[in-house]
Order: sequence, then structure tokens, then C-alpha cells
Amino acid sequence: MNPEEPVREIRINPVVPSESVLVATERSLRPRKEEERVPHDTRAHVDSCPFCKGNEDRTPPTILAVPDEDDWEIRIVRNLFPVLGTESDQRSLSLGLQQVMDGYGHHEVIIDHDRHGIEVHEMPAPHLAELLGVYQRRMQELFATDDRIKYILVFKNFGSAAGASIKHTHSQLIAMPIIPENIYNEIEHSRSHYQQYHQCIFCNLIDEALTFEATIYNRESGEIRRKIDVGQYIVEKSARFMAIKPFASRYEWEVHILPLQHQSDFTRADQDDLADLAGVLKRTMQRLDRILGGAQYNYYFHTVPRCDIFSDCDTSYHWHLEICPRTTIPSGFELGSGLFVTTISPEQAAARLREAL
Ligand SMILES: [Zn+2]
Ligand SMILES: [Zn+2]
Ligand SMILES: [Zn+2]
Repeated sequence: MNPEEPVREIRINPVVPSESVLVATERSLRPRKEEERVPHDTRAHVDSCPFCKGNEDRTPPTILAVPDEDDWEIRIVRNLFPVLGTESDQRSLSLGLQQVMDGYGHHEVIIDHDRHGIEVHEMPAPHLAELLGVYQRRMQELFATDDRIKYILVFKNFGSAAGASIKHTHSQLIAMPIIPENIYNEIEHSRSHYQQYHQCIFCNLIDEALTFEATIYNRESGEIRRKIDVGQYIVEKSARFMAIKPFASRYEWEVHILPLQHQSDFTRADQDDLADLAGVLKRTMQRLDRILGGAQYNYYFHTVPRCDIFSDCDTSYHWHLEICPRTTIPSGFELGSGLFVTTISPEQAAARLREAL
């Protein structure tokens, strides 16, 4: 399909069919945060910042520091305003239709770098590999020491449009006793795909992206209705990872990064995987930064939960990193319908991202 052609169509997410996206490139239906850019904070150190070096006494105590506590480059502390906590031990409550689960869990902050204003695309790849290793290590520790934890979401908010309240570069980790809906849907759908076809749906998407081309003709006139070149969704590819623009992306500049070889569990990726992923992540973030001129974004890892009911999902689920730049505000239509609207086609966005570097 020609990326320049106007598109107005509803696309079904192949992994989670209940999630669909309206691609309408001819007119903007959505309120737009017009060119609102995060001024690039290049400062290395800010005296008043609780995450800067020398201010360690202004955060809760260190949980983990790399390479060590005195001269750290990456540091994990408990979140001062946790959304989930370990204080209460009441498991669940219900009154009629009102069901409540205790807000049990862990909420931690990962200070990504000792330099205050550095952005992900500026961090050296070895540092990013180290950071990915720290995410992994902390997830393993929490799973090993707390059997109430079923899922750990590692995520990053960057920029006020993406919900970041502290400017110093940081990520977060929330360990919870439930499986969040988005993960649950992906796990369930990929499991039923596996039961039907004996293949992982994410591996299928990767294979398609690498090989698939098709032409759909109009049956009566014989004219070409549409050319599909699935390779056009690839933004970046390395020996072990691929960054793709999903065909049914909810956000205009959304990009997903997946391991090329089947792996269900991010915490089991090895050192070589992390080094390779660091390079792909860095280049993908550079591309987004070039195009958006200071992207405000969220990224988060989706990996197989540690939970008995999903113990058979190693073959059917495939971990990945989702990067969602925030360029628009969801409208009433989107909140009311659950149908996300994008005004640039994923094909066009992927082409621009490929050309950006
Ligand atoms: Zn700082
Ligand atoms: Zn797979
Ligand atoms: Zn996902």
C-alpha cells in the first residue's frame, strides 16, 4: 500500500482483537498537543533534585545500586508516594457488587543515570544494557522473595504529557498481586492462537514482517485494490531484536521491540540479548527524538507472569517492549468507545522513522 494515500479504516489488533484502532489520515479528530516540546534539560546536576548525587538522604534508602552505593550510576529506591504498598495484609474484601483487593505490592523508582538531564537516546549503549540488567535483576529478586507477586510492570514515563513528575531521568517498577488486564488479554489471546495453530502469534508477526508481500485485486475490475508489504512496518532490526510499527497502533508513533528468537520471559534474556536490545532501543529512541523533537513517551515491558494459571504460556507468549510517544490527548470518542484514533497511518509513520537516521 502506498504510504502517501489517505486512509480511513478500522484495524483490529491481531494479538488482542478486542482492541481496535481507527486510522483516519485525512482529518484530525483529536485534540492535539501542538508541537509542545519538552525543553531539553542538559544539566548534569541540580542541587534541589532528590535523585541527583549527593542528595541520597532525600529519598528512601537504596535497595540496589550499580556499580556500588558510593559511586552509583543506577540506583533503586522505594517510591516515596507508592500506589501499592506492603503495610496491610488484608487480602480481599467484598460487599455485594463492590469487590476490593488490598493494595498490596511494591512500587520502586529506578534512577536510570546519575546525570540529571540525560535522555535515553543519549545514554551510551553499555549503560542502557546495564539498566536493562538492573530491571531484570530487581524483577528476579522480587519474584524470588515475595510469593504474593504475580506480575511486575517495569515502565518509564518521560515528559509531563506522559505523567512524569520528576525531571531527573528515571523508570519505575510496580510489583502486584494481580495480572493487569492488558497483559491478561495478550496472554489469553496468544495462548488460544497457539492452541489453534501451534505457533506463537508474535513469532508469526515477526515472520510476516520479514517475508510477507501480497497484492489484493478487485474481483470485478481486476484492478489492484491494495498492496501489502508487511516489511514496511520494520523500523529497526539487529541480530537479535526488531523494532516494528504495529499495523494497528494505538498511538501515532508507537513502536514495539521484540526478540527475534522466541522468548517468553524478559527476566531470562541473557547478557548478549541485553547488549543487542540496548542498541536497538537507543536507535529507536534517537529516531523518535529526531521526528518529534523531544518525545514525551511511556515505555513498558510485557513479559510472561509468574502465575500457575499461565505456567503453560512459555511457548505461546513472547515478551516485548512497547514505546508509546504521547502526541495527542485521548478524546471523548476514544474514552467512550475504546477505539483509538490515529491521524498518521502506521505505514507512513514507519517510513518516516526509517528515514530519520
Ligand atoms: Zn537530578
Ligand atoms: Zn514467539
Ligand atoms: Zn504488549
